[in-house]
Amino acid sequence: MSGFGFKRKTTELSKLFGIRARLALLALILVAPLMLERTRSLEETRNKQIALAYSEFSRIAQQSADSQRDAISSVETVLKSAAHIQASKSASDLDCETLQASLPVKLPWIRNLTIVGGDGRIKCATLDELIGLDLSDRTYLKRARLARDLIFSDFLSSKYDSEPIVIAAYPVSAVNPESDLVIVASVNLDWMSKVMRDLSSRHGVMAFLVDSAGTVLAAPADLARMVGRPLDSVPALTTAVTRAINPDQPSGQFSFPSPVGAKLTLSFSRITGTESRLILIVDEARVAADINHDIRNAYLQLGFVCVLVLLGALFAAEKLIIRPIHTLVAVARRFGDGDWSVRAAGSRLPTEFAPLARAFDKMANQLFERERELIASNDRLTVMASIDMLSGLANRRGFQSRLDFEWAKAQQCNGELALLMIDVDHFKLFNDTYGHPEGDACLSRIGETLAGLATATAGFAARYGGEEFSLLLPGTDTSHALGIGEMVRAAVQSLMIPHATSDHQAVTVSVGVAGVRPSEALNPSDLLEAADASLYVAKRNGRNTVAEHSLGQTAENGSAAALAS
Ligand code: GH3
Ligand code: MG
Ligand code: MG
Repeated sequence: MSGFGFKRKTTELSKLFGIRARLALLALILVAPLMLERTRSLEETRNKQIALAYSEFSRIAQQSADSQRDAISSVETVLKSAAHIQASKSASDLDCETLQASLPVKLPWIRNLTIVGGDGRIKCATLDELIGLDLSDRTYLKRARLARDLIFSDFLSSKYDSEPIVIAAYPVSAVNPESDLVIVASVNLDWMSKVMRDLSSRHGVMAFLVDSAGTVLAAPADLARMVGRPLDSVPALTTAVTRAINPDQPSGQFSFPSPVGAKLTLSFSRITGTESRLILIVDEARVAADINHDIRNAYLQLGFVCVLVLLGALFAAEKLIIRPIHTLVAVARRFGDGDWSVRAAGSRLPTEFAPLARAFDKMANQLFERERELIASNDRLTVMASIDMLSGLANRRGFQSRLDFEWAKAQQCNGELALLMIDVDHFKLFNDTYGHPEGDACLSRIGETLAGLATATAGFAARYGGEEFSLLLPGTDTSHALGIGEMVRAAVQSLMIPHATSDHQAVTVSVGVAGVRPSEALNPSDLLEAADASLYVAKRNGRNTVAEHSLGQTAENGSAAALAS
């Protein structure tokens, strides 16, 4: 990856983990324990509810089994009492009236009672239509005679009306071994189905009463179509039902997956005294459907809360952090642009930013103060750069800028401008005689004298360079300037600075004077040259003299000579 690409990726990453993202993360960290706790409690509730559902179903199943058992035992009681009655009579003396009377009306689960003779034909019945019906092919008769005890048949279709029935048979031989009669009761399966109605109202619960072969004897109303059909004919249940009707196992419970992936739990228990079994199949996914729905809603609510918290965090980050930072950045930018009037503390910032804003303002004040000092010292430096330290007068640079200024001013108002160039006579000899420090002191005194004269004449004195000085005289014509030049010459001589190697025995100066009325045709250097030329004349005239040079004419022997002392 190129260096540029890497840098861009890093920038994108750091943007991703900016203040907003960090606050959102913080909010999530804060919310996470609450969410986890809520999730945990929801899952706990879910498990509890499933466990509760299971216990409730097994209770109902137990109740159903008990009801079935009660029904069975009442059938047994009826059959046995009928058998006892019959046993007390001779084989030929069938007491059909007593049989009819022995079937209590309140036993809805017994459809009819019959007495079957040794030939398998119904000798006596609570329903007259049944008398004579041949049941010799029914195995339950043989089984009852063989067992000499109460037996229940598997699922049968009634020979009388083809209704699904289960037969209970009790041989009289159990009481009187001489008798070959069998008391037979047809048990009403419709009624058994009603017992299960309770279970049918439950989501995901299927209850069946099956015989020893797995044929459904009773089922809740919604599964009534299953009555008479083998339960293991349902492909998904084949293996499980085979296991549930195993005669060696009276009861049990196991789980197995359904073809659609759901977990099914099958409970079975044999109804005492019979080979029939109550089978309860629970589809956990459907049982938990309502709970899952609640849990899904709870998760949605949690998600909603999380989104709200995130939005809140982002809003707070924007309002409480990002915006104040932008405000401070804007203030810093204006500081950078040199606008020191702006203040951060005045902005409406959150309290936490107040110290930072104050620090910003303090920094701005200090920077402003420093800038002012810098400007002042710069000004001082500029002034210093224009001053000659030895004489205390302006240096050549200062002189030059003043000359330009006065030139422009005079030009503007058509005034006059005069310039004196002053040179110390035989100064090299002075230095040679008295030494350089003395030479400096001499120059310093001449500077003082010139400063005084400048004040007196409203002129501007400068040290032009070395032992040369200048005096700029605004608004002064040449003749007046000549007079001032003479004043200068006389003033220096009157200082009486000893100069043994000079003809005058004292330090003297030569003065070149030039005057001009500045115009477009001329420039400051012309005035300088003219003054220089005059000075040259003054030197040539024997020094300690004043010579004048008006621009355009040189009074070499004229006024200069006349004014020379
Ligand atoms: P003239 O009369 O023709 O002007 O002769 P002069 O000796 O004055 O002129 P010259 O140009 O030959 O010598 C000028 C001298 O001024 C030489 C130099 O050492 C001296 N000088 C220039 N600047 C200073 C200064 O700042 N201090 C001292 N002590 N001497 C200086
Ligand atoms: Mg000189
Ligand atoms: Mg000189």
